[in-house]
Amino acid sequence: MKMNVGKSRGVSAYGIVVLILLLFFLLVAIPRYKFLSRSISKVACGHKRGILSRALETCFNDETAEVQPPYKAVDQQKLQQLNHLSVSVECGSGGILKVDKNQRVYCTYHDPRSDW
Ligand SMILES: [Zn+2]
Repeated sequence: MKMNVGKSRGVSAYGIVVLILLLFFLLVAIPRYKFLSRSISKVACGHKRGILSRALETCFNDETAEVQPPYKAVDQQKLQQLNHLSVSVECGSGGILKVDKNQRVYCTYHDPRSDW
């Protein structure tokens, strides 16, 4: 009988450790992971905006190129046809890459601006 009591105590201590670990993952690790993955996706999107900005800049310096209309998705096909962009880029979180009235590239998800 004594051995059974001792064994059940051991199991309950183990159960408490598992519970604490589960609580840790629920309260700390998962929100941290979500925050980190959001941050990484935002940084990646910023890098892609930089690529498009440079492509548009070289396009503006090219006198034959037309100016990208503001508050519209960046015409990446045209940039590729003009050899200013080698690969098309897009936001990993589903945002649309557009330019504002100052011809600055923004993302509708990570860096939203008013379309008016
Ligand atoms: Zn984005």
